[in-house]
Amino acid sequence: MRNQPPFSCPQCGDTGLGGDKCLRCKIELVDKAGVPALSPPAVFLGHPTFMGFIDPWARWVATIAFVLTLITSFQYSPGIVELFVLVLGVQAVLWGGIYQVYRFFIGGRIKRLRERLRALQARIASAPAVTPIGAASGVCRVRGRVRVLTPVKGPLGQPVAAFLERRKRQTVGLVSAKRGTQVEAVTAVTVEEMSAAGVFLVEDESGAALVDDDAFVVAQLGGASKDWNEPLSIVVNEGDEIEVFGPAERKSGAVMLSEHAKQGGYRDAGSVLVFDGKPAERVMILAKSAAVVLNG
Ligand SMILES: [Zn+2]
Repeated sequence: MRNQPPFSCPQCGDTGLGGDKCLRCKIELVDKAGVPALSPPAVFLGHPTFMGFIDPWARWVATIAFVLTLITSFQYSPGIVELFVLVLGVQAVLWGGIYQVYRFFIGGRIKRLRERLRALQARIASAPAVTPIGAASGVCRVRGRVRVLTPVKGPLGQPVAAFLERRKRQTVGLVSAKRGTQVEAVTAVTVEEMSAAGVFLVEDESGAALVDDDAFVVAQLGGASKDWNEPLSIVVNEGDEIEVFGPAERKSGAVMLSEHAKQGGYRDAGSVLVFDGKPAERVMILAKSAAVVLNG
């Protein structure tokens, strides 16, 4: 399935780019068919770090607690040891609480990000066996070489069939330290994920499959799985051997490819396997190699 731009707000009708939210209504924009962007230009995943979380309000709370402890305890005129134990005890309980709140929010977020990856791995693991393209139909998995019909601009600006790139960014901010000085610290970790797919054929000896979809996922086949925040670059180039897995049906090659044949020089009039991804069941484009983005 391809999106049908333009995108507009279902509530107020304002137009914008796919993947954006309406500035006024805070609702995701949808295309002419009422579908939100299937492959937004970038997905941002991230979390604040502990330093970012505790600065500055947690320090204020701790200072107020310290002062209150002192004021309250002076009413009972305790010994110096009791006072020391009381102040330390209150601070320990307070910071323990703050850290638990942080763990609760961050832990939940990271868990969701990892579940997203696990669901992806589970789908790859449960994929059916590879079928020759000429005999495949329905939900199937095929393997073949890529012939690009309409490329997309890859991460380096080069024309490619499809790509996924994940970059990690650390937001460095100034945090107040001892005696009014400030130190640089990582206040948030943001992970930016971009992917796009053009129009391309996957060919083996038995036939050709057409991938022309916005409801896709680019993933790596085999290899060590990477954590949600690890930099990753997967690029599918002309001639690469890849696997494609997802819902597909056979269509007349003459009809399906008449438009692409002009661009790609494809003249096979036989039937062609056409992948058609759904938001809930995306076409998986599985590349065999991946690279780690340096300076990502
Ligand atoms: Zn709106």
